[in-house]
Amino acid sequence: MLQAQLVEIGRIELKEVPEPEPSEGEIVIKVKAALTCGTDLKAFLRGHSLIPMPGPFGHEYSGVVAKVGRGVVGFKEGDHVMGVHSAPCLGCWYCRRGLYNLCENIMKDKVLGAYAEMLLIPSHVVRQNLFLKPEEIDFTEAALLEPLSCVVHPYRETNLAGIRNALIIGAGPIGLLHAAYLSKRDIVTAIMDVNEERLKIAASLSSYILKPSEYKEIAYRVTDSKGFDLVVECTGQVDVWQQAINFLRRGGILLLFGGCKGGSTVSYSTDRLHYDEITLMGSFHFTPKDVRDACQLIINKTLPLGLLVTESFSLKEISTAFNLLKSGKGIKYAIVP
Ligand SMILES: [Zn+2]
Ligand SMILES: [Zn+2]
Repeated sequence: MLQAQLVEIGRIELKEVPEPEPSEGEIVIKVKAALTCGTDLKAFLRGHSLIPMPGPFGHEYSGVVAKVGRGVVGFKEGDHVMGVHSAPCLGCWYCRRGLYNLCENIMKDKVLGAYAEMLLIPSHVVRQNLFLKPEEIDFTEAALLEPLSCVVHPYRETNLAGIRNALIIGAGPIGLLHAAYLSKRDIVTAIMDVNEERLKIAASLSSYILKPSEYKEIAYRVTDSKGFDLVVECTGQVDVWQQAINFLRRGGILLLFGGCKGGSTVSYSTDRLHYDEITLMGSFHFTPKDVRDACQLIINKTLPLGLLVTESFSLKEISTAFNLLKSGKGIKYAIVP
């Protein structure tokens, strides 16, 4: 079968590799859609510690079950499925306390290689984080399960009741998913970016779109110049993390969602944290419950997810998709083998 491999920074090659065979508890799917993701782009542009090179990559997928290992329950050949790339070990200190997203083994045995004709799903993912996809749901939209699970995660712990408006910084795929999700929860959203093309797409998912230079005017209209109830940082740039706190009202929540380069630091005013009671909130990955919730959002067609996928390319055209992303064009691309 054909599999795309990231052979070095900036270079993807198609390789002919043996078809995977499922061991006990495992499933092999025929990939129907694999989506590009910010993590894959980072790996393509500068390498990534969790994506070994040369090697297969791609982790957002949906497909049709092709081979079923011994002992698998609930799936058979021909089923349409959607899944994520990891699942908690259920045995470590964090798992035993129900903090599944912080599982010490969450990134071990993760699914990599969705940019291929076939993909092996390991048994712990099959048991916890693989789901049947109804036929009427598009494979491309179903492949959004992983990023949507990440986006659903922080709002479980946050009391959204006091949140009426939110500023989302960064109109990439993750920022757009936050805007779509928060809008459905009746929160007025404003999304800020410098990229005009992305803002155009954001306009159908968010109440307001703005460039940084328009912040004052929008903050006046939406928050009476008090600042936003919630600010969601989705760029992963240290200077944006640093500035993001300035857009909050007193008592607001700063959700730091975009992962920065390892070893980065920021510093915040103690006055803002103490007297203004700002809450700083990190968010990493997702729990199986988040995945189930995201799965329901996809199945119920709650969010206009189709808007996030700019175009489809065949496996042979995968480099075109990454070069478009590199030049800031498009949101996500679907690789359809
Ligand atoms: Zn992803
Ligand atoms: Zn664990």
